[in-house]
Amino acid sequence: SYHLPDARPLFSFAARSGVPAGFRPPPRRVVVTGGAGFVGSHLVDRLLEQGVSVIVVDNFFTGRKENVAHHLRNPRFELLRHDVVEPILLEVDRIYHLACPASPVHYKYNPIKTIISFTSGSHRLILLTLKETCSDPIVLFSFCIFGGIGVRSCYDEGKRTAETLTMDYHRGGGVEVRIARIFNTYGPRMCLDDGRVVSNFVAQALRRQPMTVYGDGKQTRSFQYVSDLVAGLMALMESDHIGPFNLGNPGEFTMLELAQVVKETIDPMATIEFKPNTADDPHMRKPDITKAKQLLHWEPKVSLKEGLPLMVKDFRQRISDE
Ligand code: NAD
Ligand code: UDP
Repeated sequence: SYHLPDARPLFSFAARSGVPAGFRPPPRRVVVTGGAGFVGSHLVDRLLEQGVSVIVVDNFFTGRKENVAHHLRNPRFELLRHDVVEPILLEVDRIYHLACPASPVHYKYNPIKTIISFTSGSHRLILLTLKETCSDPIVLFSFCIFGGIGVRSCYDEGKRTAETLTMDYHRGGGVEVRIARIFNTYGPRMCLDDGRVVSNFVAQALRRQPMTVYGDGKQTRSFQYVSDLVAGLMALMESDHIGPFNLGNPGEFTMLELAQVVKETIDPMATIEFKPNTADDPHMRKPDITKAKQLLHWEPKVSLKEGLPLMVKDFRQRISDE
């Protein structure tokens, strides 16, 4: 494990010129890039509950204003339409960098932009912390790194490069960083038609369409409810550890088992339809969260059977509004 020094004097709030003795700094200000998206908007909810100020930076590529609309009247909340690949200057204490197309439908739509969002976007945010605009800045990056070279590589390799860049800035540039590797996460506010398996199955079952199982359906994934992920990200940010930490729920399901749980939750008459799979689809994925348990004292609490109905309630409402 790494132990970070306390706030570096060069960047500390009080070290800046003209700050009178006894001055009380304003509430901690936190930037969430991608904060109008699925994970980001849940993180924003929790941060605002804790009394910090939150600035969401989002270009609304896959995010929606509705996800954060309930905060628009909160004086501690600001929403900026901005693309993270462009420069930005903000005075902040913490940056959660979640902005990037996260689902296959979206990241394959413009693979070049996907790579640039990770690499150039991460670079911009690190530069932001190197300016004197931040007090004791810490940047948390979310990654998810798997697989070989294929149509998914713009995502996998983009994230891998960004993680390398982040660690090099940490080692060589003294930037305080935290690195999370996020595993499959589901919950309310996911995009309805983003092609990910939980959102596909739930939307299909609610629309009385067959659930599309790719390949033989025996491949496995581990599904984490979004509140568990948010708790993990916040525990990591405020810890003394850099990571990378795996954040996911180790409970492992085949796609056929997932279809069965969705069927039991939504509609006992729901059917499945087999479709061809892509060649580079990983056969299994299950996070080893030993490190996060030991060092962050974090582990997921919500099982698939508990979390799925919460997502179904939100999807049912949105689908009936269509
Ligand atoms: P999401 O698509 O709901 O959220 C991503 C947000 O980033 C959206 O609001 C989008 O508009 C915004 N965005 C995209 N490109 C941007 C850019 N260039 N500038 C500014 N904003 C931009 O996806 P999510 O599921 O909430 O994912 C959030 C993060 O978590 C991503 O970094 C993703 O890779 C990571 N992650 C998610 C999962 C999962 O299962 N949900 C798994 C692994 C990793
Ligand atoms: N999948 C499926 N039906 C769908 C969408 C996905 O069977 O409608 C499968 C997909 O082939 C993969 C798994 O579900 O094996 C998880 O896919 P997802 O895109 O949700 O996440 P990832 O592959 O990134 O883990």
